[in-house]
Amino acid sequence: MSTAPTFMQYAPCAQVDPDLMFPHPQDRRGVAAAKSICAVCEFTAECLARALSPETRAKHGVFGGKSEHERREIQRGRPVPLDYGPIPPKHRRIAHA
Ligand code: SF4
Repeated sequence: MSTAPTFMQYAPCAQVDPDLMFPHPQDRRGVAAAKSICAVCEFTAECLARALSPETRAKHGVFGGKSEHERREIQRGRPVPLDYGPIPPKHRRIAHA
């Protein structure tokens, strides 16, 4: 992907080790961990659109809650289920009564 867009400065992925967002494609736990970061992001739609755009396409990493493989499937017009993977406890939002 080209230069990071402004919204990414405020996204959850900006608060973690960048390597976490670029797991090996076959590292299922790593991909799930990266998706869990995206799961609490308010910019998911913008991020995924940008990662799929021909001008700013992201070849590697997890963007918009989708892995490299899932983005390829989307680009081929195949459906991809909504799956952010498990959300680590520290990222869960707890509703207070
Ligand atoms: S959707 Fe994921 S990769 Fe994209 S800005 Fe949000 S946390 Fe970062």
